[in-house]
Amino acid sequence: MILIDGKEAAAELRAELKEEVVELKSKHNKVPGLTVILIGDLTPSQIYVRNKEKSANEVGIKSEVIKYPDSVEEKTVLKKIKELNSDETVSGILVQLPLPKHIDKQKVIEAIDPSKDVDGFHPMNVGNLSSGYESSIPCTPLGCYLLIKKIEPNLSGKKAVIVGRSNLNGKPMTQLLLKENCTVTITHSKTKDLKAECLEADIIVAAVGIPELVRGDWVKKDAIVIDVGINKTDNGIVGDVHFDEVSKNVRALTPVPGGVGPMTIACLLKNTIDCFKRSQI
Ligand code: NAP
Repeated sequence: MILIDGKEAAAELRAELKEEVVELKSKHNKVPGLTVILIGDLTPSQIYVRNKEKSANEVGIKSEVIKYPDSVEEKTVLKKIKELNSDETVSGILVQLPLPKHIDKQKVIEAIDPSKDVDGFHPMNVGNLSSGYESSIPCTPLGCYLLIKKIEPNLSGKKAVIVGRSNLNGKPMTQLLLKENCTVTITHSKTKDLKAECLEADIIVAAVGIPELVRGDWVKKDAIVIDVGINKTDNGIVGDVHFDEVSKNVRALTPVPGGVGPMTIACLLKNTIDCFKRSQI
């Protein structure tokens, strides 16, 4: 079984991006810039943002974090996004989710200029991705896609089963694999027989949020399984895939932690650089 090392893949991607930033700097005399807006003091969000800032700096992206208290008014955030949209030194804008209840998430997402939407959540980017046009692609599914391609460069005709249909993970993942000519089945909480669907799959991407949902007898022996889940349990962090069981039965599997997670941040950096490159044309 191939243990898909997300840490190593992310380090390789960051090294490539670092070189690309050096080239871009010598060509344009400026570097890509990423601005992250962080609202409130949720510990996981603070950790994510700190990691994003650190990784951005490592590859030479100019990064800035704008912090607001939980009580910040929606209009203040929208005004700041408007300012950032017209700031030429800012290539990418990310508003760290989740947001406090009084702030309308969709309004915030749609306020970001789609050409600076490094999360790929703006409806214009969602539409472009599903139409097969160039767009920012949500970082986690992009990371999953790059890991799958490392194992199997030619995905044409493969049967993929996506478990979970969130806008963040399942839906964009479906689009990415469709573009590769996979036959994609997207499953969700109302799917009648999830095990039977998974047993058909050459590729499984599990993005559900239920600890160890995908079991050892749900998988084909040559399947590639990507575990997006991050679930806190009494036994520590586990994925949506039962690692011990599934690892015995498949061709390749991502661990949790150390699989998809590190690729998510590396893909955010990739998206920032891609937004910068598109803005220079
Ligand atoms: P989400 O928005 O809660 O969506 C979960 C999806 O799973 C929904 O589509 C839901 O179906 C489906 N589902 C729920 N129970 C199911 C069941 N019994 N069988 C089949 N499908 C079921 O979750 P998300 O934001 O996509 O996140 C999923 C997981 O990924 C979480 O553990 C999260 O922490 C993790 N995550 C990891 C990263 C990373 O970087 N590694 C990034 C983001 C998220 P319905 O639509 O029918 O409700």
